[in-house]
Amino acid sequence: MSKTNPYLQLDQKIVGDIYTSQEAMENLTVLCDEYGARFAGTPEEYAAANFIADCFKRYGLQNVELEAYPYAGWTRGTATLEVIEPIRRTLHCISLPYCPAGDITTELVSAGYGSPGEYEALGNTATDKLVMAQSASPPDLGRWVHRKEKFERAVLAGASGFIFVSEHPGVGPETGSLQNNREAPMPGISVCKEDGEFLKRLLARNSGKVTLKLKTTDINEPRTSWNVVADLPGHENSAETIILGCHYDGHDISQGAHDPASGMVSVIEAARALSTYAADSLKRTVRFIAFGTEEIGLTGAFRYVDAHDSELDNIRFMLNMDAAGGTSRKGIVLHCWDTLEPFFNIARQQMHAEMPVGQKVHSYSDHFPFFLKGVPSCHMGDHEAPPGGRGFGHTAYDTLEKVKLENLRAASAVGARIALRCANANDFPAKRRNNEAVQKIVDTDPGLEGYRISLKLTR
Ligand SMILES: [Zn+2]
Repeated sequence: MSKTNPYLQLDQKIVGDIYTSQEAMENLTVLCDEYGARFAGTPEEYAAANFIADCFKRYGLQNVELEAYPYAGWTRGTATLEVIEPIRRTLHCISLPYCPAGDITTELVSAGYGSPGEYEALGNTATDKLVMAQSASPPDLGRWVHRKEKFERAVLAGASGFIFVSEHPGVGPETGSLQNNREAPMPGISVCKEDGEFLKRLLARNSGKVTLKLKTTDINEPRTSWNVVADLPGHENSAETIILGCHYDGHDISQGAHDPASGMVSVIEAARALSTYAADSLKRTVRFIAFGTEEIGLTGAFRYVDAHDSELDNIRFMLNMDAAGGTSRKGIVLHCWDTLEPFFNIARQQMHAEMPVGQKVHSYSDHFPFFLKGVPSCHMGDHEAPPGGRGFGHTAYDTLEKVKLENLRAASAVGARIALRCANANDFPAKRRNNEAVQKIVDTDPGLEGYRISLKLTR
């Protein structure tokens, strides 16, 4: 196979610029230190959207727009968790997004890791109880089990509330939404690993009889958010587009520096580099999207595919860069597109980048609404990485100083060069799937088990 690189000169300019610039870190500093969490529904979210739009304009992109959409808003209230029996103790806890207001006094049961088997073993003993599950994935299951799946299995088991326990010591409670874009059917809160261990010991020493009182005061009400959209136009007479995207909203307890902002500034940096060096030679349009309200339901991405339904046939490829500027390898994780593997392997050989190419699909980021519509897609990451925890992710400690400029550079350089290749290749070996083909994957792929559970709940 020829390893001649037709993009060599552009690659050198793009990579050379990115690796001699501080721009990505400067943009990350503004997003994190000036706008903070950028949580859905806050003024900081709107300010961040405008900052991103201004970056796109400053870098020479066109058709820069904030696209507004309504969504189910949520505002955190105080949550109180008290042990009533066998002793009295108040524990620190936080509500999880879409928690309703509630007041529950009932017994505690543990679902361990919250695996399908552990919920099955609980049988009807979870009915009307507070179910506790820790955030780690079950070690013997061979797949990651998302918080939402654990919560939804607790709802399906008839529980009256849910306690999510962090698996990581020293980082406090881990947040994350209970539902996608709707009020949850029962309260769900989060406690730190240390308090979870305390509750487990209480259960063990008191023959499983521990009574808790949980009070939540959160507010669920409709709000407005925005996707930021910008184009670098292609010069061939083609309607086809390439999409590079990442969400910009974070969780309210955190700067969200790694998730998502490290990925967001890498998308912005890829836009800057492509606009500077490839604007004249780009064959197809590259569209950059900063998605809103991902953390509470991928809502920005769902509204985008609804609003742009007539354009979906023309999306050649969607690359989701959620949190891509972290420590993970900058690989191409395709969503069941075998025919695209050779295309990206040739790109990898040309680019001499550490960019593993593989297949793995999940339903927990902004590529998923595109996947459901059949659009060829991937996310940037490492398909060989074992299922691991979030570490400081989704906690108060996802902060700026943990993000390394070299990782932002690696992510933006891969993003820009992949977008260039997708835009300029004469043939692209993937076409939008029809509904039946999508449904077949949704029904059978092991990575989508959590999504199948969520469908049980919404039906
Ligand atoms: Zn994210």
